[in-house]
Amino acid sequence: MSETLKWTERYAGALMNTFGPPKLVLARGEGCRVWDVDGNEYVDFLGGIAVNTLGHAHPALVAAVSNQVSTLAHVSNFFATRPQVELAERLLELAAPGVDGRVFFCSSGAEANEAALKLSRLTGRTHVVAMEGAFHGRTMGSLALTSKAAYREPFEPLPGDVTWVPYGDAEALAAAVTERTAAVVIEPVQGEAGVNVASAQFLAAAREITAQHGALLWFDEVQSGMGRTGTWLAAHHSGVTPDVVTLAKGLGGGLPIGACLAFGDAAGLFAPGNHGTTFGGNPLATAAALAVIDTIEADGLLARAVETGDRLRAGVAADPRVTEVRGLGVLVGLTLAGIDAPAVVAAAQSAGWIINATGPDRVRFAPPLVVGTEEIDAFLAAWPGILDAAGEGA
Ligand code: PLP
Repeated sequence: MSETLKWTERYAGALMNTFGPPKLVLARGEGCRVWDVDGNEYVDFLGGIAVNTLGHAHPALVAAVSNQVSTLAHVSNFFATRPQVELAERLLELAAPGVDGRVFFCSSGAEANEAALKLSRLTGRTHVVAMEGAFHGRTMGSLALTSKAAYREPFEPLPGDVTWVPYGDAEALAAAVTERTAAVVIEPVQGEAGVNVASAQFLAAAREITAQHGALLWFDEVQSGMGRTGTWLAAHHSGVTPDVVTLAKGLGGGLPIGACLAFGDAAGLFAPGNHGTTFGGNPLATAAALAVIDTIEADGLLARAVETGDRLRAGVAADPRVTEVRGLGVLVGLTLAGIDAPAVVAAAQSAGWIINATGPDRVRFAPPLVVGTEEIDAFLAAWPGILDAAGEGA
């Protein structure tokens, strides 16, 4: 029996069935490469779903985490630590230079959104406008804002008072926002919906509409933030500054950390006792995030994400079976005609590439920001054969 089969069986016997059977059982990684428990090698063009910003086992992340865990791993929120304060300052400066803001740290994207939703309730209003196609996480609050009914319905009643409007439709947004609206939540790039990019005009309209009605503008950048689109925030492509930004995924480069950033008046809404979490701002996770930010800056990874992402988009678009390519930086989505996306993912894996399907005809790529042009070119050379293999299997 292969090691993969053995561990897959043990997985099924020990873990709750929330994800279905694992596609691989992985043992180690280095850069953009991972190896499974049977020694098979794959190039990782998914990066833990937009998490492994620096790839696997990056020396800067290894050093920062090793150093921190051997110094001080956790202290509780009765106490402060240097990496926690430094990271909050760095994030505020990267997200909205010169604007007064404050950060709440937590451990995941859903938890960051939960914090933002609770913050929005302190405006004294409850109504939230969210986008069709939105994914904000699986906790009861973030699920309440997620548009896919199949995710929500088994868990209803959820915190209510949510209106969904078509993504990118400024007129519908203007009609939905009233003096009762606490917040408008938008992913500047919708990841789980298949990589849909909001136009700068739509984000600017959202800024204007929320300001008119005294509602918070909240950007969920859990997937699109931290350099993935070639700028620190995807919102930076539009020049729009929101009141609230939520981050997670790529922030810790693999260590679990989330953050809710608030600017201006919104930054002062939480008072002692309103919110908290044991692991939020933990020195280990914040030291990891500082190493991620330092490495992105030192190695010019924002510019690299633009270059490699453009190359990947142009390359995959060249095949006529690809009908649309979307995205910014190394967050890339495409639509296929006549080929099943899950079959493409399976064919890619057989050929040694990890990619992902976000729908029956939609494929997503979110490689580490350290991905090289050689790896992109090697994938593009394999791409027509992957599509052939997926088509033959259909
Ligand atoms: N928000 C967005 C935009 C996401 O893409 C995700 C996860 O895919 C989440 C929130 C939830 O994050 P987490 O899985 O860390 O709770």
